Formats: sequence, structure tokens, C-alpha cells
Amino acid sequence: MKPDNSQTITIAGAGLAGALLATLLARAGWQVELFEKRADPREVGYEGGRSINLALAERGLHALRQAGLHEAVLTQAVMMRGRMVHFADGKTALQRYGKDDSEVIWSVHRGRLNLLLLDAAQAAGAKLHFHARLDRVDFAARTAHFVDERDGSTREHRFEVLIGADGAGSALRGAMNTLTPLGERFESLGHGYKELEIPPAADDGFRIEPNALHIWPRGRYMCIALPNTERTFTVTLFLPQKASDGVPGFDALPDAVAARALFERDFPDALANIPDFDADWSAHPVGQLATLYLDRWHLDGRAVLLGDAAHAMVPFHGQGMNCAFEDCVALARHIHAADDFNAAFAAFEAERLPNARAIQQMALENYLEMRDRVDDADFLLQRELERLLAQRHPERFVARYTMVSFRRVPYATAFERGRIQRELLIEATRGCSHIEDVDLAAADAMVLARLEPLHDSA
Ligand SMILES: Cc1cc2nc3c(=O)[nH]c(=O)nc-3n(C[C@H](O)[C@H](O)[C@H](O)COP(=O)(O)OP(=O)(O)OC[C@H]3O[C@@H](n4cnc5c(N)ncnc54)[C@H](O)[C@@H]3O)c2cc1C
Repeated sequence: MKPDNSQTITIAGAGLAGALLATLLARAGWQVELFEKRADPREVGYEGGRSINLALAERGLHALRQAGLHEAVLTQAVMMRGRMVHFADGKTALQRYGKDDSEVIWSVHRGRLNLLLLDAAQAAGAKLHFHARLDRVDFAARTAHFVDERDGSTREHRFEVLIGADGAGSALRGAMNTLTPLGERFESLGHGYKELEIPPAADDGFRIEPNALHIWPRGRYMCIALPNTERTFTVTLFLPQKASDGVPGFDALPDAVAARALFERDFPDALANIPDFDADWSAHPVGQLATLYLDRWHLDGRAVLLGDAAHAMVPFHGQGMNCAFEDCVALARHIHAADDFNAAFAAFEAERLPNARAIQQMALENYLEMRDRVDDADFLLQRELERLLAQRHPERFVARYTMVSFRRVPYATAFERGRIQRELLIEATRGCSHIEDVDLAAADAMVLARLEPLHDSA
């Protein structure tokens, strides 16, 4: 479709996905109206909210490149070369993510990224409306009703197409669901998270290695820390909601004193760097983690969902935003290529829904890997062989993490090839304790027999 002046695209939610999509569509010539329930963060400051920083990887960067924003974002980002694992005995080891500094992820500040995207959307010509919470939708009359939460006033907006970028609790999804069931299922992880902060050191530098994502794996739970440009780190504790079988849970940590005792036992080196631990613990809420599955994302040509509104996932692959950004590029492409919005939304759903399922599954699996496997001998041997096979067969054997984070092959392809590779690694290292014990010729033969050369998406 070519943009024409008689048709406006209305987007609910000016978070990360909504603001980027508005930018892409407005730059392509569409008239875009973007509605956000909160105040304009450029005027009142970003409200903060959860996960203060986010890991940005190639898929997200690629989407930002399409909007001409990657350089501006990267100037505000901190490079993370790999996982810095903090073992229970206090030792640390850096496990690189990729082959060199061309394969790294970036820690970006959620609030600053949102501000930059809002500026870009506005500069591209999108009309921004703040204090406008989507409340209800009349799909027959094509009217959306927005509420200003400051005074409860409402306004009616006529739309041709409505796009839901309004996050995991999407009001548009709720409205679509009442008209036609979307097959919505929320699966709670049973684990929550709490954020704490490591401030700068006395000399104003970073207190721990800045160019890494720090992990303190402790079996059924873990802490992570991501660097910020202010030389602080956002620390996140992931823990079961309920304590059981000697494993701590948020329900058994009623106050900062109990939480401090847990940190003294399990994360003493992290605790030593969190001087305001008690205040942080008391001030920050416990966040919930869940996966949202839908069977349908669109209502003919009238409405479609994307980002967390369509497929919220647990954060352990650092891909929720990256996936949401990839959605934006895909939706803009389908709108451009299709004859009408119904065809565009159907094609978008057909392409993206299986991929969202795949990354949702990989994100769940990554929790196990991060909290339980990064310090395990079998895992480390498999990782060593993985690196070796990736060097020997760079076109065929590409580590799953690399496919997800540094390439743009569809997530579903990364998932399927990752499964084949994992079986191969287990088979090739069976009975081996050292890399020298592995029969490399046999492993090479398995790679050639089971894996075709890998090609990225266009
Ligand atoms: C602890 C944690 C860590 C994470 N770490 C990473 C990471 O490292 N890397 C990564 O890629 N992803 C990460 N994510 C996931 C990432 O935060 C989300 O996938 C991403 O924010 C989704 O963007 P979105 O625009 O779809 O939704 P959101 O960012 O939630 O934006 C939704 C917007 O809609 C607005 N809104 C809501 N309801 C309405 C309404 N009714 N009317 C109008 N506006 C409305 C909201 O105010 C908000 O501005 C993490 C998530 C969590 C919880």
C-alpha cells in the first residue's frame, strides 16, 4: 500500500515499540497518531519504572538503523562483551558472547531510549498525544476512547486502523478479545525480580568490570548486573516467589534485614558494592514474570498487536525489546507490500507469531542456563566444543546465542538449529572430560551431515 492522506494509522502506546513504529511509518509517508497514557517524559522526566537498562542486540540495532537512530543510541550505550560469572567461591570468569568485539551486546537506558524515539517520531511527522489511556474501542464504529487520568476526562478518536503497542497489559488486546477470542494464555514463571543499584566508586569510576553482563548463578536463582553510562550498575535479583526445599523465595524475605542475610550468604561481593541496600530493597517492588501466548494478533484490517502486547516474554534472553523492534520493521514492511491492511496484518502475524513463540521458549530455557549451568563442567566443555566447531564451520555451526543476538535469522530457525546443535554437542562430548578427548573428525562429520549453511533474513 502507498500512504494516502485519507488514511491515518493510530497507535496505542508510545513505549519502545510504539515510538519506533510511529517513526518508521511516518518516515514512509503515513499519517500517524500516537496515544500514550503517561505524561510526555520529555517534559516531566522519565518515570523510571522497571528494568532501568536493557540489553540491545543486533535485531534491535538493525531496526534502529532503519530509522537512522543506531548511532545516537550507541553513543549512550555501554558495550557488554560477555557474561562475567561470579562463582560461589568468589572467583570470576568472563565468558565471551561472540568471537570478538564485533559480536557484543549493549546496555541502554530504557528511559533515554524512549525519549530519543519519541523525538524521532515527532520529527518524522507523527502526532503525539500524552495523558491518553486507551480505555475502550467500538470496532463497528471505528472509534477509540481515551481517558486522561489526571481528571478522568475522555475523548473519542475515529480510526481507520488501530495498532496496539500498549505493552503486556494491553487494553487493545482486551478490547479485541471481547469481540473475537485471541486464545490468550498467561503463564507465570513463579519467579519474580527486584532491582538494586551499584553506585559509582569513590573515584567516580565503575566499581566492577563495566564491559560485561555480570551474573551470580546460584542454582535455582541468580543476580545479574548491567552497566549504565553513569558508571552505575542496575542489579536484578531473580528469585522464586515462594521459598521451598532450602531455596529462598521472595515470600521468605519480609524485609531488608532478611534480604541482607541472603546476600551476605550468597552474593557477598555484590552486597559489598550496594551501599544503599536496605533503602533500595525497601523502595523497589517485586516485579512479576510471565509469558503471554496468543493464537491471533489481528482483527481483520482494523486492529493488530505487536511487541509485549502480543507476546510478552521472560527477560532472560534480553530479547523482548529486540523482538518488539523487529516486529516494527516487519509490520512496516508488510503494510508497504500488501494491498490492504487485512492482508498486511495477516502476513505480519504469519511471519512473526512462530518466531515470537520460538524466542519465548528460548528465553525460558536461558533462565535455566544462566542460573544453573554457566558454572557446570559439562556445559563448559560443550561451550568449548561449540566455539571450536563455530571456528571450523563458520557458515554451518553458529551458536544459538550468536544466532539470536548477533544475526537476524528468524528466531524459529535459531531455535530449531539450536536443538540440532545441542544434541550434537551432547553426543560428541559424551564420556569426555577435556576438549582433547573429543573425536573432532566425528564431530565435523555430524556438522556436515546435519546442518545446512545458515543464511540471515533479508
Ligand atoms: C526485568 C526486565 C528486564 C528486561 N530486559 C530486557 C533486555 O535486556 N533486552 C530486551 O530486549 N528486552 C528486555 N525486557 C523486555 C522489554 O522491556 C519489553 O519487551 C519492551 O519494553 C516491550 O516494548 P513495548 O513497546 O511492546 O511495551 P512497553 O515498553 O511496555 O510500552 C508500552 C507503552 O504503552 C503505554 N500504555 C500501556 N497501556 C496503555 C493504554 N491503555 N493506552 C495508552 N498507552 C498505554 C505504556 O505507558 C508504555 O509507554 C525486559 C523486561 C523486564 C521486565
